[in-house]
Amino acid sequence: MADTIFDVVVLGGGPAGYTCGIRAAQYGLKVALVDANDRLGGTCLLWGCIPTKAMLFSAELWDHLKHADRYGIEGVSSPKLNWKGVLARKDDVISRHVKGLEFLMKKNKITTFKGFGKLTGPAKDGVHTVEVKLADGKPETIKAKKVVLATGSDARVLPGYKPDETVLTNYEILKIAEAPKSLIVIGSGAVGVEFASIFKSFGAEVTILEVLPRIVPVEDEDVSRELLRQFKKREIDVNLSVKDTKIEKTKTGVTVTWTDSNGKPQSKQAEKVLMAVGRAPRTEGIGLEKTSIKPERGFVMTNEWMETTEPGVYAIGDIVGGMPQLAHVGAMAGLVVAARMAGQYAKPINRARIPGCTYCEPQIGSVGLTEAQATEKGYTVKVGKFPFVGNSKATILDAHDGFVKVVSDAKYGEILGVHIIGPVATEIIAEAVTALQLEATVEEMMFTIHAHPTVAEALLDAFSSVEGKAINV
Ligand SMILES: Cc1cc2nc3c(=O)[nH]c(=O)nc-3n(C[C@H](O)[C@H](O)[C@H](O)COP(=O)(O)OP(=O)(O)OC[C@H]3O[C@@H](n4cnc5c(N)ncnc54)[C@H](O)[C@@H]3O)c2cc1C
Repeated sequence: MADTIFDVVVLGGGPAGYTCGIRAAQYGLKVALVDANDRLGGTCLLWGCIPTKAMLFSAELWDHLKHADRYGIEGVSSPKLNWKGVLARKDDVISRHVKGLEFLMKKNKITTFKGFGKLTGPAKDGVHTVEVKLADGKPETIKAKKVVLATGSDARVLPGYKPDETVLTNYEILKIAEAPKSLIVIGSGAVGVEFASIFKSFGAEVTILEVLPRIVPVEDEDVSRELLRQFKKREIDVNLSVKDTKIEKTKTGVTVTWTDSNGKPQSKQAEKVLMAVGRAPRTEGIGLEKTSIKPERGFVMTNEWMETTEPGVYAIGDIVGGMPQLAHVGAMAGLVVAARMAGQYAKPINRARIPGCTYCEPQIGSVGLTEAQATEKGYTVKVGKFPFVGNSKATILDAHDGFVKVVSDAKYGEILGVHIIGPVATEIIAEAVTALQLEATVEEMMFTIHAHPTVAEALLDAFSSVEGKAINV
């Protein structure tokens, strides 16, 4: 391959890398894509977004089946959980999409390499050289005019611990042989609460430990409060403001000790413990030291066009500092970079318009400023809040808890943020993202027709409630 000069080589075949590669190819660029794994898709497809949501779907079905008689369905009152079946379904969903990606690589004439790639230094005469250690151990050299770094992230672990069959990260828990009867989850971000929700549905005794004073700490405070209320209702034991968490292995699992918010020592035993304490960028060994790129706490810093300090080298996805580590953020960054490399129209990512979705039960979808952030920024904040109890489709779905909250600027009715907790929140947040993107005002949304009966109608009522004019409450 040393004689071929590609227009671009992408390091990493996760959602950031493959999206960038496909779009670059659509623009007519000659693309090489290198991935260290034997399957494309990255964390998102293999160990993150997709497997967790497949399992959450099984958990949701299980929850419905347990109460089937409530919906007039009899004869399924004692359903049996087949854990291996749950894992097999998840693996089937993954396999289908891995195959889909392989097809897309071929369709877009992207040359793929299975191996670990690294930069060798700055471009010479406008051409970069990337060295790849192929899966069979053989070396390969790829030359390209541009390089896109998209090597993703790994689960962080608490200092002094190593993941194994009882102390788990997202990687181990997704292939666990049996569903645990008890689970302690350290960290209450999206990953932590999603796994807590899955295993609670499957009957485990679940405990959450969070160092901060609220659950899902990046969300609006009202959302955190509502999730706490609903998790308590589901008998998930949530402990906030914990300190000095320690894990000790026992014959039957683990004992976890911590200091509670009143300074009292606490402990709990469980079969398994999950560390869901964030993601570390995967930037070691990729040759950054041979370039002008100086990582900050491992993250690669970029400008708004995802350009690094090294000419011709871009970075996208979970390795980029100061960006939420989300698949859709990495993918959009990939689209921006592809357009820039091809000299086409592009728009930088606007941080205020990145949706955040958490697929626990109940779901959370949010975009834009929280009420506290809007107040801190000096806006005269006007809030509208509509509870799902007034939405007929929510009643049909038997999912009455939660609300839609709209944070707006009193002066011009600008929509600053929308925060949803409740049924299909992760789907209906898309409307709020579009409204923000198109700079719609509260008034415009109040006169936007929403089909009936839909959960999305709760957004219409929430926008109307900013002016105290919700119909259904
Ligand atoms: C349990 C869990 C659930 C999640 N759920 C969601 C969700 O619902 N929604 C959401 O938006 N986000 C979710 N995320 C986050 C999401 O998975 C990441 O934001 C996303 O995968 C990042 O994409 P990426 O392409 O930057 O990196 P990755 O997906 O990590 O992909 C990086 C790829 O680079 C390859 N690679 C690494 N080093 C090299 C190298 N030197 N050479 C070649 N290849 C290399 C790796 O093999 C990997 O395939 C979740 C994460 C976890 C852990």
